[in-house]
Amino acid sequence: MIPSSFDYVVAESVDHAVRLLVEHGEDAKILSGGHSLLPLLKFRLSTPKLVIDLGRIASLRAIVEEQNRLRLGALVTHHQIEASEAVHRRCPLLAETAGQIGDVQIRNRGTLAGSLAHADPAADWPAAILALGAEVRLAGPKGERSVAARDFFIDMMLTAIAPGEIITEVRVPALAPLTGWAYVKVAQKASGFAIAGVAALLSVDPSGHCAAASVGITGVASRAYRASAVAAALEGKKLNSDGIQAAAKHAADGIEPLDDLHASAAFRAHLARVLTRRALELAVSRVGPGVSWPV
Ligand SMILES: Cc1cc2nc3c(=O)[nH]c(=O)nc-3n(C[C@H](O)[C@H](O)[C@H](O)COP(=O)(O)OP(=O)(O)OC[C@H]3O[C@@H](n4cnc5c(N)ncnc54)[C@H](O)[C@@H]3O)c2cc1C
Repeated sequence: MIPSSFDYVVAESVDHAVRLLVEHGEDAKILSGGHSLLPLLKFRLSTPKLVIDLGRIASLRAIVEEQNRLRLGALVTHHQIEASEAVHRRCPLLAETAGQIGDVQIRNRGTLAGSLAHADPAADWPAAILALGAEVRLAGPKGERSVAARDFFIDMMLTAIAPGEIITEVRVPALAPLTGWAYVKVAQKASGFAIAGVAALLSVDPSGHCAAASVGITGVASRAYRASAVAAALEGKKLNSDGIQAAAKHAADGIEPLDDLHASAAFRAHLARVLTRRALELAVSRVGPGVSWPV
């Protein structure tokens, strides 16, 4: 339970952190909240020679509201998101997701970017980030770039972050009018991680037809995914209970569900479908004035 020895550097800026990462290559690891990194160090599953602490880069702690989006700095904690008035107003799906992560201590320390970079297949954020069509901003030796959420999660604990890069922020579009949202999950009791978690967005036109749908699912497969068959089954259709139930049946289409001591593959696929229906029903109930539910 004692990590192997390493040097520790407090990064003064994003550029400084990138320079150190480039200089030390695979021997270096970024530290944000430490909630995943420290257990890895203690079990010696990761044995970096250098730990680069981003914690003093104040600019990475900001939530910035712009006209059509929110910019969430890499060090923004789950609690900051859960408590942010701007988040509740512009993108309440984020607050609803944050509030379901672990417990208060975890939410006070764990960071959005740390969670995305770690890419635990049972983490909550990927579902919401995928459903929202967010962008992950990366800084590296070749400058800055953006990666769309759908291209970010490659496999279990594997992302599109290239060597020498760090996440600097996540850009999330503000919800369009007449859009409902929901994040629902079945949690693993001890940790709170998702056995299955579904984030859903539904936009409805004034005639009650689904203008757009987006569903992100975590916990079920080796990486979080967008359930595009669910969205395709809803878009353009009049929204009603039967339609939602039929669409939710596609939640695990084309997926190879995980099978482990927490849940069998068949149960995870079942949860994906049930939680998708619940998330869609909750989302449509929140679309706003003029749209009544159930129909
Ligand atoms: C007991 C417990 C319960 C939890 N329950 C839940 C839960 O219910 N749901 C859930 O989703 N999560 C849960 N978590 C995860 C937690 O919320 C953190 O989000 C997660 O552990 C990441 O931790 P961190 O932000 O402290 O990042 P760190 O541990 O500091 O870093 C994690 C990894 O990401 C890398 N990294 C960090 N920041 C960056 C960056 N800016 N750019 C590039 N790489 C970076 C690090 O090098 C490391 O490899 C739980 C954790 C614990 C310990």
